[in-house]
Amino acid sequence: MSGGRSRGGYAAPTFLTEAIVLRTHRLGEADRILEVLTPQRGILRVVAKGVRRTSSRLGSVVEPFMHARLQIAAGRADLHTLRQAQLITPYATWLAADYELYTVAAAMAETVGRVQAVDEAGHRGQFRLLHGAIAALARRRHAPRMVLSSFLLRTLAEAGWQATFAACARCGRPGPHPWVNVALGGTVCDACRPPGSAHPSAEAVCLLRALSEGDWTVVDAAGETAASEAAGIVSAYLQFHVERRLVSLSVLDSMAELDAVARGGDGSPRQPRRPGRTPDDPGPRHDPPAGAP
Ligand SMILES: [Zn+2]
Repeated sequence: MSGGRSRGGYAAPTFLTEAIVLRTHRLGEADRILEVLTPQRGILRVVAKGVRRTSSRLGSVVEPFMHARLQIAAGRADLHTLRQAQLITPYATWLAADYELYTVAAAMAETVGRVQAVDEAGHRGQFRLLHGAIAALARRRHAPRMVLSSFLLRTLAEAGWQATFAACARCGRPGPHPWVNVALGGTVCDACRPPGSAHPSAEAVCLLRALSEGDWTVVDAAGETAASEAAGIVSAYLQFHVERRLVSLSVLDSMAELDAVARGGDGSPRQPRRPGRTPDDPGPRHDPPAGAP
């Protein structure tokens, strides 16, 4: 591999990496800063020079959610420079036509930024999860909100916050159990249940287990009400571990409310309660793993 252009005796070392673009920011007249997720190095910030000019060949490759092979000149600090970009899969093109798909992809990209992995095994796991979820969205394999819920549960598990919906999260007794407590990390049995635990439908508990294990046969067969309950619990679980509310998830919540209004006012008869966040049950807090935001 070339050593890159020499400037004043300093030749930046370059490396090749596969990447998914998470987001981009404008820089000056013609440049962009890209945030990309890579399998070996996690999130990198890369300056792409001249990509906003109409003559740029790279411009269409470095859009959010594009999957590409990048040649990068390593910066001395945490800001690198893009040398070459070769498109692998044009997920952005397939997602851009559908507002809901694009919003879900944005929520996943935002989560990746908040729940960063700390070592190469973690980076690889996170890249594999994001790539799989973006591909499933773009190819419309499953309901977008279910792809998001599964991605969130598995990304949090990768970061050390594994939720269990197959056994009691406190005593380990095999389930399924009817109660969910976000602070305790999943379902809890009758004996362990703290006050304020949620009581979702049995179908929702079954769906949560399938989402966390990637059992898509069960997920795809789930009804609308169970899907709504499960998505609410996953959202509460994410909020419990990631302090600040994700902007993209707020957009999804308002879309769900609009859907409910369109269906005649009360589209989801049983709203999932937000366990662990009620005044009578603040629940114990988990310490975030080292390196978490
Ligand atoms: Zn128990």
